[in-house]
Amino acid sequence: MKRREFVRTAALGSSAGLVLSSCAPQGGEGPAIQTESPSLRWRLVSSFSRGLDTIFGAAEVLAEHVGHLTQGRFNIQVYPAGELVPAFEVLESVQKGTAQMGHTASYYYVGKNPALAFDTTVPFGLTARQFNSWVYHGGGLELLRALFADFNIMNFPGGNTGVQMGGWFNREVGSVGDLRGLSMRIPGIGGRVMDRLGVTVQQIPGGEIYPALERGVIDAAEWVGPYDDEKLGFAQVAQYYYYPGWWEPGANLSFYINRDAWDGLSAHYQHALELAAAAANQYMLSRYDAVNPAAFRRLVEGGTEVRAFPQDVMQAAQVQAEELLQEGTDDPVYAQVYDSCMRWREESSAWFATSEYAYTAYLHDL
Ligand code: CA
Repeated sequence: MKRREFVRTAALGSSAGLVLSSCAPQGGEGPAIQTESPSLRWRLVSSFSRGLDTIFGAAEVLAEHVGHLTQGRFNIQVYPAGELVPAFEVLESVQKGTAQMGHTASYYYVGKNPALAFDTTVPFGLTARQFNSWVYHGGGLELLRALFADFNIMNFPGGNTGVQMGGWFNREVGSVGDLRGLSMRIPGIGGRVMDRLGVTVQQIPGGEIYPALERGVIDAAEWVGPYDDEKLGFAQVAQYYYYPGWWEPGANLSFYINRDAWDGLSAHYQHALELAAAAANQYMLSRYDAVNPAAFRRLVEGGTEVRAFPQDVMQAAQVQAEELLQEGTDDPVYAQVYDSCMRWREESSAWFATSEYAYTAYLHDL
């Protein structure tokens, strides 16, 4: 796609807020002079429903901040999954410019490029803090943006779930052998790992998990964590709640912006979007960190039995996960992202085990 011409008259100075830009209007009829603060209405399509208020809410936080930072002139309307486009077509929609923006999880699109998984999370990958340090300060964002350039998309981190739970089980998992023959709802690479460990993997949408567990169609299911899982009522139809969700140690969501739409923005509006995305990123993780503890307590008080995955399950899963992740490294671009991410994990885990983890474990054991 041909990029629109974009000329910024920097001589006027960005601090004055009077930068003029020359760019073609949306219809492409020809060049037009715009001030830095034109009235804009954008559509943002989300992959999530309003019911997932913490995740969906991050996009609303972004829209609200952009409005405030532009005196209400840059208006972003957020559409839940299915209203304008289906949940898993957000990338295509932003790529084509049907919507100027999207909020989604890039691992939905690994069929287009397996390396996109690293923009969300991979089994035994980075925690939320490790991911944020990698993208903002460790070269991760530049590598991920190189992937998105192929889709005519500009991307920003847009929220994180933190370490997810391992999910709900109706049978105890005492060792890796107990996974054999277990029927579990688990998507993505985590599902492929479980398949290798003998699990019968089922792909079931969120809304259908409860009846499937209730009727015994499946023995186990993973979703997100205490706050979201409690709302879906899984505690009523499954006894054991396992941890940790090693397949999603910090699921990052992303804001996608159509590259032509981004290039057509003034420096002021671009900066407003970048700041608002960072605020939304912070909002979602801190919101989960605020609502998960109470939900977790309520589940335990309600009789849910919390169990750690046995060490041999963790180790067998990690061996299979690393094998699967290495399969992509024949591709040099994938290999670059993989190496950068895994090097970051190794170095920062040595530090976090000494700082955050050691301190939290001490407090918890008091
Ligand atoms: Ca999950």
